[in-house]
Amino acid sequence: GEVATETEVLVIGGGPGGYVAAIRAAQLGKDVTLVEKDRLGGVCLNVGCIPSKALIDAAKAYHRLSREAERGIVVEGARLDFSRLQGWKQSVVQRLTGGVEQLLKGNGVTVVKGRATFTGPNQVLVENPGGGNEVYRFKHCILATGSRPVELPGFAFDGVRILDSTDALALDHLPLRLVVIGGGYIGLELGTAFAKLGSEVTVLELADQLLPGTDPELVQVVARRLRQLGVKVHTGVRVLGWEQEPGGEGVRVVFRPEPRGEGAGSSGAGGAGGPGGGAAGARAGAARAGAGAPAADEQAVVADAVLVSVGRRPNTDGLGLELAGVQLDERGRVKVDAQLRTTQPHIFAIGDIAPGPMLAHKASREGIVAAEVLAGLPSAADYVAVPAPVFTDPEIATVGLTEAQARQQGYEPVVGRFPYAANGRALTLGERDGFVKLVADRETKVLLGAGIVGPEASDLVAELALAIEMGATLEDVALTIHAHPTLSEAVMEAAEAGLGHAIHVL
Ligand code: FAD
Repeated sequence: GEVATETEVLVIGGGPGGYVAAIRAAQLGKDVTLVEKDRLGGVCLNVGCIPSKALIDAAKAYHRLSREAERGIVVEGARLDFSRLQGWKQSVVQRLTGGVEQLLKGNGVTVVKGRATFTGPNQVLVENPGGGNEVYRFKHCILATGSRPVELPGFAFDGVRILDSTDALALDHLPLRLVVIGGGYIGLELGTAFAKLGSEVTVLELADQLLPGTDPELVQVVARRLRQLGVKVHTGVRVLGWEQEPGGEGVRVVFRPEPRGEGAGSSGAGGAGGPGGGAAGARAGAARAGAGAPAADEQAVVADAVLVSVGRRPNTDGLGLELAGVQLDERGRVKVDAQLRTTQPHIFAIGDIAPGPMLAHKASREGIVAAEVLAGLPSAADYVAVPAPVFTDPEIATVGLTEAQARQQGYEPVVGRFPYAANGRALTLGERDGFVKLVADRETKVLLGAGIVGPEASDLVAELALAIEMGATLEDVALTIHAHPTLSEAVMEAAEAGLGHAIHVL
C-alpha cells in the first residue's frame, strides 16, 4: 500500500509552460509540486530555443568574418573549433536551467524527478528514475508535457545519420553534407547555421514554399539569402526514402516533384508559428530497396547526415489521460477552453500539448493564465498578438493577421511597407535586405498585423505586439518618436507609409 503525498497544485513537465505555471501558482500562495522526468527547462532551454539560438549566433559571427573585407576588416586564418562551440553552447544552457532551478526553489516549489502518469482524476503515480514509485494526490493539476519530433516513415531516427533537431544540436563534428527534410522554421534555422559553419546544405520541402503558412512576401527575402549562402532548396518535392550511398559512407536521399494539388501547398499545422511547417511526406523507405526501376523524375542528394524536421507531436500518450477523464481534440491535442481547463475542470493543459502555435512564449503565457485561474483570478488566454519569430538570415517575425487573413475576416486592409534599404541604421550594419509590413483596417487605421523580414526582426516585433495588444492605430505608431538611427524607425515609417506619408521612401 503506497502512501499518497498531498499537494494543492501538481504541475507535470518543467518546460517554459510548466515551470512558469509553477512559479506563478506559488506566487499566488499555492502549495506546488512540479514533476519533471528529464531536465528542468524542457525542450526550449535544453534542446530547442536556447541551444539553437546560441548555435545560430555563433555561426553568424563566424560567417561574417569572411565577409567583412568590404568594411576594411580583413581576417585571416579564422577557423572553427566545433567542440569548443558546442561546449560554450552547453554552458549557456546550463546557466539558464540552473537559474530555473533556483527560481523554483526560491518560490518554494517542490521539484520531484520522475515520470508522472494518472491513476485517477486526482492522483498520479511518479516513477523515479532510480527506482521507487510515489503517489501524489492533488486538488489542481497543470499538464505541460510538451511535444517531440514527428518521425517520417522510412527515416527512423538513429542519432548518427538520420537526426532529429536534438541530435543535430548535439553533433560532435560538423557534417560536410547535410540534407534537411522539412523547410519549416526549425529546419531553416538549423540549416542556415550549419551552412554558415561550412556544411553543404540541401533543403527538401513538400509545400511549394519554404515556411509554409508564412506570408510569401517575407519568405522570398530569406529564400534569396539562402541561395546566396549556397544552400540548395527544393520546394514542392516529396521525399521517397533513403539508401546507403553506393560505395560510400553517406546517405542517398531520393525525392521527386510532387504533382500540384496533392499535398504541395498544404500549410503547416500550427500556422505561421507552427514548427516544422508542411511535413514532407515519404513512402515507407524500406520499400525502396529493390523496388523496381526508379521513376524518370526521381532525383537524389547524398549527405553525411539528414535532419528530419517535419513537425512535432504533442506528448499526450502514456500519460493515462483516459484515467483522468481528459479528452483530446481531433488532432490529438488536449482540448481546452479559454481558461486552459481541460474536459476535467480541475486539470489544465498548456503549451505544446494544447492547441495553438508551438512556441515557448505561448506556453509560458498559458502557464500564467492557468495558475491565475486555479487561484480564482479572472484570467483568460488571448491569442490576438502572439509574435512568431523565425531566426533565419535575415530574421522573420510576424504578429497578428496577415493581409490575406484580414481580408478573410472581413476587413478592408490597408498595407504600409518600409524597406530596410532606406533605413540608415540597417546600412551601418551592412544590411540592406528586408522590410517592415503593417496591416491595418482601412477605415479605422487600427493595426491588425505586422510582418518583418530583416535584421533583428524578432526583437522589433515586440513593439507591434504591444501596439496590437493595446488596439493602437497606424497614427499611434507613426506619432511615437523613434530613436535615430535605429532599425525601429523602419517600423515608424511603415506606419507613416500606411497613412500615405512616409518621409524616406517615395
Ligand atoms: P516542453 O518544453 O516540451 O517541456 C515539457 C517537459 O515535460 C519536458 O521537460 C519533458 O521531459 C516533461 N515531461 C513530459 N512528459 C512527462 C511526464 N509524464 N512526467 C514528467 N515530465 C514529463 N519556441 C520559441 O518560442 N522560440 C524559438 O526560437 C524556438 N526554437 C525552437 C528550436 C527547436 C530546435 C525546437 C525543437 C523547438 C523550438 N521552439 C521555439 C519551441 C519550444 O521549444 C516549445 O514551444 C516549448 O518548449 C514548449 O514548452 P512546453 O512547456 O509546452 O513543453
